[in-house]
Amino acid sequence: MIRANDNYSKLKASYLFSDIAKRVDDYQKKNSGTQIIRLGIGDVTKALVPAVIKGFHDGVDEMASDATFRGYGPEQGYAFLRDKIAKNDFQDRGADISADEIFVSDGAKCDTGNFQELFATDIRVAIPDPVYPAYLDTNVMAGRTGEFADGRYTGMVYMDCLKENNFLPNLPDEEVDLIYLCFPNNPTGSTATRADLKGWVDYAKKHKALILFDAAYEAFVRDENLPRTIYEIEGAKEVAVEFRSFSKAAGFTGTRCGFTVVPKDCRVFNSVGEKTSLHSLWNRRHTTKFNGVSYPVQKAAEAVYSEAGKVQVKQQIDAYLKNADIIRKTIDSLGFDYVGGNNSPYIWVDGKDRDSWDFFDLLLTKAGVVCTPGAGFGRCGQNYIRISAFNTLENVMSAMDRIKEALK
Ligand code: PLP
Repeated sequence: MIRANDNYSKLKASYLFSDIAKRVDDYQKKNSGTQIIRLGIGDVTKALVPAVIKGFHDGVDEMASDATFRGYGPEQGYAFLRDKIAKNDFQDRGADISADEIFVSDGAKCDTGNFQELFATDIRVAIPDPVYPAYLDTNVMAGRTGEFADGRYTGMVYMDCLKENNFLPNLPDEEVDLIYLCFPNNPTGSTATRADLKGWVDYAKKHKALILFDAAYEAFVRDENLPRTIYEIEGAKEVAVEFRSFSKAAGFTGTRCGFTVVPKDCRVFNSVGEKTSLHSLWNRRHTTKFNGVSYPVQKAAEAVYSEAGKVQVKQQIDAYLKNADIIRKTIDSLGFDYVGGNNSPYIWVDGKDRDSWDFFDLLLTKAGVVCTPGAGFGRCGQNYIRISAFNTLENVMSAMDRIKEALK
C-alpha cells in the first residue's frame, strides 16, 4: 500500500495570498472604476537591466551553435559565475569565502527549504516569528516540528520579534541546534548589526549549533555600518550557512538564480558527536538532486557583476528604496509606528491593536491599495501589515496619497 508522508497533514494550509486575491477580486468586481495598486506580494516590477539582458542573449546565442553549445554543466555552477560571486560579494568586503564554497542554484526558496534535509529529525529548531514561511513548512514536512496546537507547533522554538526587541530575535533561553535568521528581514524589514550577529555566532559556537542566514535582501543595505554578509563576523565560517538570491537584487524572480555559501570550515556533528564537513554533505545532496542552473541564466547572473551591470542594478534598487522612503515618510506622517523601509524594501506597520486583516480590508476598500496582513507570517504579525516598495514610483506616490486621504 502506498502511504503518504503523514507530516504533510500537519501543515497549515497557507491561504494568505489566495485569501488576498479573493478579497481583491471581490472588491474589484464591485468597484470596477478603481485602479487597484498592489503593494502586497514581494515581487519585483522592473525589467532586467540592459547588461543582464545582454549576458542572457549572449548565453542563448551560444546555445544556437554546435561549437559553443553547452549540455549539462557543473551542478555547483560554472566557475565564471562562482569566481565573480566570491570576489564581489565576499572577498571585496573582507569576507574570506572562496569560489568552491559557493553553490549556484535556482533560488533561495529551494535552498532554504532543502537545506534542513542534512540534519537529524530530532534536533531543536528556532525560527523567528514573524517569518518567511518556507523555513517552518519544510521542517513540518520533515517531521521535525511536532503537532500544531494553539497556533504553534509544539516542537519548534519560536523567537518573537516585536517592538520591545526592535524586531530582532532574542537568543533562546533553551538550547537549540538550528537557527534561522533573515536580515534585512522579510516581512519586518528590520536589520541586524555586526554586534547582533556576533551574539548569534558566539551562541552557535557555544552550543554547537548552526545558523542558516538568509540574506536574500542584502542588496538593499545602504548603511555602511551594517554587515552585508554574516562572514564579516569572525568565526562565522564555522557556524553559518548563507543564502543569497538574484531575485530581488537584480530582478530575477522569473529568471531564477541564487546561491548558497557553505564554507569548508562549517561543521555538523554525527551521531557520536564527531565533527563532519557540512560542505561535503551539501555537495553530495546538491550533486545528487540538482543538475545545475541553465547556462544562459548563469550568463545573465554573471553580467550582474560587470561594470555596467553593477551600476544598473544599483540604480534599480535605489529606485525601490526611494519608493520605500516615500512609504516610510507617509506612514510616519500618519502617526503609525513602523520598522524597515531603509536598507529594506518592506515596511512593517503597527496597526495599533487593529487586526491585520481588518487593516488590510480598510486599505483595500478605502484606498484601493493592497498590502499583506502580518498574520500570514506568524502570530506576532497579528496587528501588523507589510507594505512592499516593489512598484513604480507613480503607483507608490498615488497609493500613499490615497492612504493619507483614507486614514486622515
Ligand atoms: N528568502 C526570503 C526571505 C524571501 O523573502 C524570498 C522571496 O520572497 C526568498 C528567500 C526566495 O527567493 P528566490 O526567489 O531566490 O527563491
